[in-house]
Amino acid sequence: MTNYYNKDLYKILEINYDATEEDIKHAYRTLVRKYHPDVAKNVDSLIFKEIQEAYEILSNEESRKKYDVLHRFYKEKIKNEFQKKSEKSKYDEFMKKRKQPQNQESFSKSINEALDSLFHSKKQEFKSKEDNIIINGEDINLDITLSCFEAANGTNRKVNILHTQPCPNCKGRKFINGAECSMCKGTGVISLQKKINVKIPKGVMQGSKIRVKKEGNKGLNGGRDGDLFLIVKIEKNPYFDTEGMNILVNLPITPCEAVLGCEIPINITDEVIRVKIPPLTSSGQKLKLAGMGIFNKSKTKRGDMIITIYIKLPASLSEREKELYTELSKYPDKNIRKDFNNAK
Ligand SMILES: [Zn+2]
Repeated sequence: MTNYYNKDLYKILEINYDATEEDIKHAYRTLVRKYHPDVAKNVDSLIFKEIQEAYEILSNEESRKKYDVLHRFYKEKIKNEFQKKSEKSKYDEFMKKRKQPQNQESFSKSINEALDSLFHSKKQEFKSKEDNIIINGEDINLDITLSCFEAANGTNRKVNILHTQPCPNCKGRKFINGAECSMCKGTGVISLQKKINVKIPKGVMQGSKIRVKKEGNKGLNGGRDGDLFLIVKIEKNPYFDTEGMNILVNLPITPCEAVLGCEIPINITDEVIRVKIPPLTSSGQKLKLAGMGIFNKSKTKRGDMIITIYIKLPASLSEREKELYTELSKYPDKNIRKDFNNAK
């Protein structure tokens, strides 16, 4: 694939930027099943070719690293070119044009020229102004999955990030004594994997963005470092869920608890909440505990806890329990299906 670095190969494979080798293989297999020319007769075969090429590059560690660097440069380069020359409106206009296929060729040409001058110019120290362009590091977005409990109470997480930084060998200068730097292959940057500890604050919600300053890609030539943004996904489980600042609880109770009433401790937030279930509570009945949900960011407001009761039967009965239920069955509720029978 020529000039593959101006395409977003991750988008082509429908994967995240931090995808593992396994993720890449899995995504590729799924897409092959969907787009293989033998299967998808009406699909443009170019799509399949693109998927194959994206896979070839991303499935190899070395070529993936190289692509990450080149693609980042490509994006920074466009941004810089147009911010330098013109105001934002012109940039927007250009991006709009870029989406129209008829301009694709001339667009690629100008980008290729720009990139050629950046990457493949004479093997000597850069003297051009381009070399000293201040490039801000890009922000990195990363999904993070939390349990409902972690979201409500906060937690600490170790996060693996892959970011770029100026090459320590040539200090980002790309050349050493006139020769291309061997460590970064003349790009001036290297990809680095880093483990960082992030404190997840109390009360984050589905879609919340947690900002970790300066842990994005490093800036070049004095440009500022990007930030890391963790985007919260809250894991679903059958008992707890969230909806904005509200905590939704599906609470199982026994038939006896439903009949006689009970008090059940719930410790989804850092305080234990004792929920009183009144006698004769039916399945599906909802209880709302106002102000027992998730705090907002400034801790000035708090959502509710909404509990839905469901009566769960035991998996098996002892002889004695059977006896007691048999005894109880001698007192049937004659009105139980009155409404049901009238509702024809
Ligand atoms: Zn270097």
